[in-house]
Amino acid sequence: MARSPSHLASEPHSLDAKALVESQRAWFETRVTLPLEWRREQLHALDRAARKYEAEILAALKSDLSKSPEEAYLTEVGSIYGELKGALKNVKAWMKPRKGSAPLVIQPARAYQYVEPLGVTLIISPWNYPYQLAIAPLIGALAAGCTAVVKPSELSPATSRVLAQMLGDAFPPEVVSVVEGGVEASQALLAERWDLIFFTGGTSVGRVVAQAAAKHLTPTVLELGGKSPCIIDRSADLEVTARRIAWGKYVNAGQTCIAPDYVLIPPELKGRFTELVQKAVQSFYGADASTSSDYGRIVSTRHFERVSALAADGKVAFGGERDASSRYFAPTVITDASLSSPLMQDEIFGPLLPLVDCPSVDDAIRFVRARPKPLALYSFARDAAVNERVLRETSSGGAVTNDVCVHFAAEGLPFGGVGESGLGGYHGQSSFDAFSHKKSVVKRPFALDMKLRYPPYTGKLSLFKRFL
Ligand code: NAD
Repeated sequence: MARSPSHLASEPHSLDAKALVESQRAWFETRVTLPLEWRREQLHALDRAARKYEAEILAALKSDLSKSPEEAYLTEVGSIYGELKGALKNVKAWMKPRKGSAPLVIQPARAYQYVEPLGVTLIISPWNYPYQLAIAPLIGALAAGCTAVVKPSELSPATSRVLAQMLGDAFPPEVVSVVEGGVEASQALLAERWDLIFFTGGTSVGRVVAQAAAKHLTPTVLELGGKSPCIIDRSADLEVTARRIAWGKYVNAGQTCIAPDYVLIPPELKGRFTELVQKAVQSFYGADASTSSDYGRIVSTRHFERVSALAADGKVAFGGERDASSRYFAPTVITDASLSSPLMQDEIFGPLLPLVDCPSVDDAIRFVRARPKPLALYSFARDAAVNERVLRETSSGGAVTNDVCVHFAAEGLPFGGVGESGLGGYHGQSSFDAFSHKKSVVKRPFALDMKLRYPPYTGKLSLFKRFL
């Protein structure tokens, strides 16, 4: 199975998107992807390649984002092995027709959902978890019997290169191809007709993808971003809350789609909470995070400047130190930012944590409801009724009580956004489902051809009323 990546796929300047899609479509049309054995073989090939290239992947993540190997394993590499294991174990069951119920009026009959692969798919991924966010959807694609073109981000070039090598080594280009390149390559791919576009990235580019998909009525999964709030109730264990928020905020230097974006907190808790976040940061990264091998860097100069500009709003309660040449930005807490400032309007995607005065949970719920639906929401309270109220009265892609981000690791739950934070979900069976069409099938025998439904209808209304 091993071949080098096709020249089509590995050289962005010679990208012939049309030819690439056509070669995958021709392969898909052979129906070779339908049997369980083929799908298992692809998943095994991906598993072997992931293990073979593990050292290169960890080195690439260090080079692109200064991720320590431990953090990279915890947040990217390890979860891929878990997803692969789950898919290999369950793909047989996922593929089986799912039984539905056939009502009396259509009897005798049996009803099913047949699960079929959507076909030739495009996966566009971002730079912040550049390995995990390219490979996790691909697992769904292969388990579902689809082919895939993967377009990783140009902002994580070392990881994109390893992905091209690793997937080129494991798959022929008509099954999986990697296209390295930026916006131009992405748009060339988006101009083609796909059977599914699986996009992970920012909300504004999500709109570009949705518009391109509309041309061919292509279904999309849009895994987008936004501002994910934390709500802290007076009953919360403030020390644990601060430690957990600090971890979720500063991992990968804040460049995490489900990072806590800002904190809604009763004003009298602000001072203590800030001290506790600072204490947690020091316990993670030492007195100076710039010397810690566990603290990441901002991905590019443009993003470093963007984060620096955001930090100009409000007062720095601690942190704020930075170094443009190494793109280091210290873990930072900000208070008193104006709600109309870019810091409180845009997704931060950096290590800045604004605290917003919010006297009651009621105010917090109103605050969240008045804004676009977030990708994640985190509610902290010892009083379970408070957390339950927040869960029921706000809408977000996902939510966690008394912690942050961990829903991402719950493979049995669909991960995704709602409204401006995204459309559709994946992980575990949801990944398989995202790349599948569920075809409603009713099976009928020729026998017992009840004449009731056929015209002429005269005199049948009372019978219809009885049975329908
Ligand atoms: P991005 O939207 O800028 O880029 C994502 C991908 O789209 C890249 O491969 C890029 O090359 C391509 N792209 C960029 N501009 C394009 C255009 N005009 N037309 C076509 N393609 C284009 O996102 P990013 O900066 O790489 O990642 C950060 C964003 O992604 C944040 O908003 C974050 O919240 C979001 N994100 C979401 C999830 C999730 O699972 N929901 C995960 C990670 C990141």
